[in-house]
Amino acid sequence: MNLNNDIKKILVTNEQIEARCKELGEQIDIDYEDKKPILLSLLRGSIPFVTTLSKYISIPIEFDYMKVSSYHGGTSSTGNVAVTILPASKLEGRHLIIVEDIVDTGFTLSTVVKILKTYKPASIEVASLLDKPSMRKVDDLDIKYVGFIVPAEFVVGFGLDYNELYRQLPYVGVLKEEVYTKK
Ligand code: 5GP
Repeated sequence: MNLNNDIKKILVTNEQIEARCKELGEQIDIDYEDKKPILLSLLRGSIPFVTTLSKYISIPIEFDYMKVSSYHGGTSSTGNVAVTILPASKLEGRHLIIVEDIVDTGFTLSTVVKILKTYKPASIEVASLLDKPSMRKVDDLDIKYVGFIVPAEFVVGFGLDYNELYRQLPYVGVLKEEVYTKK
């Protein structure tokens, strides 16, 4: 079985991802000089993106990770999303860059930002590999570093999964319809 055969079309090639990460990394170098930001990655989909992006950042940075569990209902929910954030670093007074794989409705990110603010960081910005602005349901989201705008299609690859598969593909693509229908 070859996962590449399940892809209908490639939306963003690996070469495009590398080139865009280089641009974003250079911009972060300028924006965060002398600020030693923490790249806070949302597990698990953002790992390939943070790995590639960070190769192109030359200023001192630290890494941390957040486990985000989305579920319906629950306590600290916004819309239908609730999140649990378990940062290992002390975040107070630090400059945070949240690293996400994709922003769709925006519920996940807006909830994460709301919770992170309670840690009293010096600043919070967002870097997302992909953005689907046509799907947005939250108005007040500012994504400073966007890799690529994608249409309202379900995409996989470069960290993004379908039933936990396809994350290792080096590009972002759309699955063939039969993949969703086969048992
Ligand atoms: P939001 O809360 O912005 O609606 O959704 C964010 C999360 O939904 C992403 O972190 C990702 O896990 C998932 N998601 C949204 N769109 C897609 C997509 O096209 N493909 C995949 N694989 N996951 C998606």
